[in-house]
Formats: sequence, C-alpha cells, structure tokens
Amino acid sequence: MSDCLFCKIVAGQIPSKKVYEDEELLAFHDIGPKAPVHFLVVPKKHVPSLYELEKADAALLGRLVYKAQELARELGCEKGARFVLNCKSDGGQTVEHLHLHVLGGRAMGWPPG
Ligand code: AMP
Ligand code: ZN
Repeated sequence: MSDCLFCKIVAGQIPSKKVYEDEELLAFHDIGPKAPVHFLVVPKKHVPSLYELEKADAALLGRLVYKAQELARELGCEKGARFVLNCKSDGGQTVEHLHLHVLGGRAMGWPPG
C-alpha cells in the first residue's frame, strides 16, 4: 500500500526506532509512548486490520505474538506487559496496517477507556 504509514516505515521511507526486524516482521518504538516501554510489532505484509487477516496468515500472527513476548522480556518487562490489537474505528485503530502494541514498565489499568 503506497499511502500506508507503516508500509513506508517497513520500506525505510519513514524513519523509525527499530527494535527488531526479520523477513516478515518489524518492531519499532511508538512515536507517542503511553508507557515506559511502548513498541509496535507489524507484519511487513500490508494487512489493514485484524478483521482483514486471512486464514492463511493466522500462523504469521502467531509468530508475531510470539516475537512480541520475546521482545517484551528483552526490553525489561519481566513483570508483564499489555499486548493490544486495536481494530477499526470502535477499537480505536488510527493506522490501517495491523500492529500489535506492547506496553510495559508500569502496571496497566483495566478496563481500557
Ligand atoms: P492505533 O491507534 O492502534 O492505530 O495505533 C497507532 C500507533 O502508531 C499510535 O500509538 C501512534 O503513536 C503510532 N505512530 C504513529 N505514527 C508513528 C510513527 N511514525 N512511528 C512510530 N509510531 C507511530
Ligand atoms: Zn501497510
């Protein structure tokens, strides 16, 4: 998607503070952190939201979540973290490229607003 912000970050056209990269995933720090640790993990493939995930990509999402917890541990969230997938307007999604938020470094409240 040529006009997608996170596709541009994946392509290196927009800079990011990279946490991790492999052939199918990219993780980078959120530009507006909501916790001492706040990074995003995205598939390099453009998927607009969780609702558009194809069944064939379910394993990709599994690998994304597995990598997210590895990175959370590595970044010091040994006491736990919040893993969030905002989906479409009611879910609070503002960037239409599937991304998993990882928030840590403090205790999280519940329920979310
Ligand atoms: P969401 O509201 O779930 O779609 O989350 C989008 C997230 O992307 C927000 O937390 C933003 O702070 C973050 N964001 C927007 N632009 C950038 C950027 N250029 N680099 C890193 N994070 C960004
Ligand atoms: Zn995209």
